[in-house]
Formats: sequence, C-alpha cells, structure tokens
Amino acid sequence: MVKSTTTTTNAVDASPQGTAGVTTSDYDAIIVGAGFAGIYSLYKLRQLGLRTRVLEAGPSVGGTWFWNRYPGARCDVQSFDYSYSFSEELQQEWKWSERYATQPEILRYIQHVVDRFDLRDGIQLDTRVVSAVFDDEASKWTVTTEAGEVVSARFVIMATGCLSVTKAPTFPGLDSFDGPWYHTGHWPEEGVDFTELRVGLVGTGSTGIQIAPRIADQASELLVFQRTPNFSLPAQNRPVDDEFDRDIKATYAERRRAARKTPRGYPTPPFLRECSALDLPEDERSQVYEQSWNYGGPTFTGAFEDLLTNKEANDTAAEFVREKIRLMVNDPVTAEALSPTDHPIGTRRPCVDTEYYQTYNRENVRLVDLREGAIEAVTPTGLSTTEGDFELDALVFAIGFDAMTGALLNIDIRGVEDAPLKEKWADGPATYLGITVADFPNLFTITGPGSPSVLANMVVSIEQHVEWLTELLRYATENDVVRIAAREEAQKDWVQQVADRAEATLVPLARSWWSGANIPGKPRVFMPFLGGIAAYGEILEEVANNGYSGFELSTS
Ligand code: FAD
Ligand code: NAP
Repeated sequence: MVKSTTTTTNAVDASPQGTAGVTTSDYDAIIVGAGFAGIYSLYKLRQLGLRTRVLEAGPSVGGTWFWNRYPGARCDVQSFDYSYSFSEELQQEWKWSERYATQPEILRYIQHVVDRFDLRDGIQLDTRVVSAVFDDEASKWTVTTEAGEVVSARFVIMATGCLSVTKAPTFPGLDSFDGPWYHTGHWPEEGVDFTELRVGLVGTGSTGIQIAPRIADQASELLVFQRTPNFSLPAQNRPVDDEFDRDIKATYAERRRAARKTPRGYPTPPFLRECSALDLPEDERSQVYEQSWNYGGPTFTGAFEDLLTNKEANDTAAEFVREKIRLMVNDPVTAEALSPTDHPIGTRRPCVDTEYYQTYNRENVRLVDLREGAIEAVTPTGLSTTEGDFELDALVFAIGFDAMTGALLNIDIRGVEDAPLKEKWADGPATYLGITVADFPNLFTITGPGSPSVLANMVVSIEQHVEWLTELLRYATENDVVRIAAREEAQKDWVQQVADRAEATLVPLARSWWSGANIPGKPRVFMPFLGGIAAYGEILEEVANNGYSGFELSTS
C-alpha cells in the first residue's frame, strides 16, 4: 500500500471497510464519479489494498444511467456485451430481459453490482468535486468539494464520464416560456406525463431519436425540430429468452475475450466482410447490407472494412440507409428531410432506434426542418423560427453534451507549478494514451480523450483502462514509486498519432461532438483514438511490458 503522510480528524471515515472511530481525510486514491468507471475502479483499487474513496456529485450511483432517465433510453450495444466482464459469477447470475436493456434495468444492474461487491460504503454521494491541486513537494493531490470538504490523496482517478455534462439550452426567451421544459440528461425522477400536450422536441441525435416515439405515444402533438439529419439504424430489439440466455452464458468468457480482440469491443456477426464494399457486385453488396440491417444495431457501419476510409464505398452504405428511410416514411418530403446527405455514414455516431422513422407516419407527429429556418427564440407560447411560430405546451431539449472534456474542465485541476488544465488544453485536449496528462502526475482519466472510449463499447473501454491502471498502481506500490508522470515527448507523439488516425479516415468530413463541433467556442480536435479496442490494448500492453515507457516513475 502507498503510505500516506497527513491526516486530519474532521472528515469522513477513510478506511476501506469503514472502521468506526478512524477519521481521516487522507487517502491513497480518490475516484471522482460513480458510474460504470468509478465503481469498477473502486472495486479494483480495494483489491489492491489502497484506501480509496469515490466522490459522486449525484444522489445515486449509476452515472449516465441515473441521469438519463428519459422514456425510451436504452443501450445500443447489446446488454450482454454492455456489462462488466470481471466476474464470471456476476455475468452468470444476471439475466438481461432484452437484447438492448432499458435505462431502469441498466441502473438496477449497476446498483446490484455495488451491493454484490460491498462497495456502497466507499462511495460518497451528493459530493461535487470543484478542484484538484497537485502538491509538487509531497507528490499528492488536494481535492476540494463544493461543500468545502478537503481531502488529499496520492492518486486521483477521474471517472467523471465522457457524456456527463449536458449542453445547456441557451435559446433567447427560454425564461419566458409558460410551460415546462426538460433536458433529457436531467430527466425528472418521477417522470413526465405529456398526455394531451403539444410537445416540441429539439434535437435528433441518439437521444432525440430514442425519445421521439415515446413522446408521440402520449402527446396530442409532437413537433420534432431537426437541424441535421442523422443516420439511424434499427436496433431489432427483442426479449432475451431462456435458450438465448443459456447460449450466451455457456460461452461468456470466450465471448468477452473475443470482444477485446475487436475494434469496437463486441463480437461481430460472421456476415460482415473483410473487403471493400466496392469489391462486390451491387446485388451481393446489398445482401450484406440487408443482413446487417436485419441483424440490428451499430454493426451495420462495419459491414465492409473500408466504409470509414473510402467515400465511394461509404456512399453505397449511406444510399442503402436513405432508401430504407424512403420505404419507412410515407410522406416523401419528410423522408427526404430525414435523409442525411451532408456527412458520410459513420462519421458521426450512428443512432440506433426502435420505430423512429415510422413515428413520422403518425397523425400527431411532424418534422420541422430547421435548415429552412433556424430557431430564433423561445416565446411564452412556443418556439419561433425564421420561418414562423409554433405553439407548444412543453419543450424537450435533446441537444447533447459537452463531451469528453466537459466534466474534466468543470473541475479546477492544477498540476505541476499550479498550471491549470484549462490552460494546457486551451487548443484541445492532449493526453498520453488517453489516461494521463503530462504535468499532471498521479492523475488518471478513465476513458479520457485520446483513448477509444466513445467509439467503442464503453464498458469494455472502461475495464481496459481500469485494469491497466490497477497494474500500474500495483507496480508503483511494489516499487515505492510515489510519482507517475507522463513525459511531454510521449504525449506529443500520442496526440499526433490520434490526429493522424482520424485524418486517415472520413471523420474530418463531419461536424460532430467527437470533435467538439457541437459546443460553440470549443476547439475542433477529433478527441477519441480511432485505432479500436484491440490495437489500443496491444499498445497499452507494450507500454507496460517496456517498464511503462513514456512515463517517469519517481521514488521520491
Ligand atoms: P458516467 O456514467 O457519465 O459517470 C460519471 C459520473 O461522474 C456521473 O455520475 C457524474 O455525476 C460524476 N461526476 C462528474 N463530474 C463530477 C464532479 N466534478 N464531482 C463529482 N462527480 C462528478 N455507451 C456505450 O458503449 N453503449 C451504449 O449503449 C451507451 N448508451 C448511452 C446512452 C446515453 C443516454 C448516454 C448519455 C450515453 C451512453 N453511452 C453508451 C455512453 C456512456 O456514457 C458510457 O457507456 C458509460 O455509462 C460511462 O460510464 P462512466 O462511469 O465513464 O461515466
Ligand atoms: P447529440 O448527438 O449531440 O445530438 C444533439 C442534437 O441536438 C443534434 O441533433 C443537434 O443538432 C441538436 N442541437 C443541439 N443544439 C441545437 C440548437 N441550438 N438548435 C437546434 N438543434 C440543436 O446528443 P445526444 O443525442 O444526447 O447523444 C450524444 C451521445 O450520447 C450519442 O452520440 C451516444 O454516444 C450517446 N447516447 C447513446 C444512446 C443509445 O442509443 N444508447 C442514446 C443517447 C445518447 P446538430 O447535429 O445540427 O448539432
């Protein structure tokens, strides 16, 4: 165990097991956030014997799956892959009811994990971290919470989430609106009843596409305000029956191993082709797309190996989806407005839906194409665009997140020589391996910018990071290392590699939150590592095998 030096007597119980009478504010490790990442980090660091505490801003564990309680919310990676793999017992015990589980079920699962592994006493809820300052002399961090509590720790693990800071609606006149308005990322716990209301939904990303059919079920009228059409793929969701459950569980360990050898962190069906889409005659190519479409979920964009690198190949996939939209949506004008033509498929995160396009065939649903007239203001009675006014009783904003860097930069993080992270990242995030930042020793970012994170099954990305970090901290502990610092040169090379990998694909052709384009003023940098889970895992392994190359490990 890393030895801690300072203690105070007026703070929370810091002992891993919550031993009565011992009060100290000094820990080996502080973890910020209690979503999938923070919970697993706590589990692993406790196994290592580190005195660890999780500080979570919210009133519950669950992170994403606590905050995003909007109707229709569910995962878009299959439940039995979008779940922890670290415990064979856990994965054998837990039964998912649907191929793509709903938010309440995923939240129940996370709560079950916390209880099953006795983690609750290590998690302090309703505790927002506002600053983390590095003490160069002591090689330790001082972490301060909104309530003024001060704790110190050798290591700080930021498990603050890639999609945990919502983009705030800043439409002029919002305060004047007579009805209620909601952001999907802060959905009221008690739910919302839209019966007999005229509802305006702004945003058609993954969230808007999930919530629209559910609002349409209740509201007297739903107007969907779309600025940019997105490609959406059918989930082909269905219940998990006993036989399917047994089949998955019979080879679960193997399935998990296979997932880590893929780019996206989940096994892919055998009909995906390791060739160019242009290598096949049109009818055979369409057959592959049809199979992928019927299989469901995001695998479609991996139907051929060059869909993200060859525009001509990509066009064939994009046109296939546009043709599907024309077939699903009765009104040709609406179908055209819903069909993306401004970006190649897969260059923004593809959405996965259940009956989204069909929703526009309902009498009570209408698309408002904001390309014909942008939103100018919220009025007391609705929304006003340059094309006219729309009378509405309630507003729903599904307008996204300040992704990947938002939660980190909300905290005043100061490293060596008191340098703020905000300044270091003024031109965009720079990390070494997506998990460390030069000049911020002993600080780690789970699924940080520069790691595969949001381009893959996030639970696999999280496990990959947490397990690698645990081994690094084990090494540090066993070798009396008190300071783990990424080298500037290694970071520079990594940042270049992340940028080069993005440049070699079609992603620069799209405006997306992956590159910060959804937040006015945010630097335009493609943030995640595009090389995939398997390649990234090999790099992590090589770094460790080389005695943690790219790091300076100091014993004093
Ligand atoms: P989070 O779950 O975001 O948890 C971070 C926690 O940190 C939050 O609880 C937050 O309150 C806390 N926090 C942040 N800042 C502070 C602070 N300063 N002080 C204290 N606490 C703080 N990924 C997939 O791979 N597949 C999916 O199907 C999928 N579906 C998604 C659906 C939605 C609606 C959204 C928004 C995201 C989805 N994602 C999906 C991405 C999802 O965010 C990750 O899969 C995963 O849940 C992230 O876990 P995490 O622990 O890293 O972060
Ligand atoms: P998003 O993809 O960023 O979509 C936000 C939407 O709001 C876009 O349509 C955007 O239009 C629109 N918008 C933003 N500001 C606007 C403005 N001022 N005026 C008009 N429209 C505006 O956010 P999200 O849908 O919340 O999804 C974010 C990510 O969370 C997803 O990509 C995914 O990773 C994850 N997620 C996953 C699921 C799932 O299926 N499991 C569900 C939800 C979220 P523009 O495109 O024109 O900017």
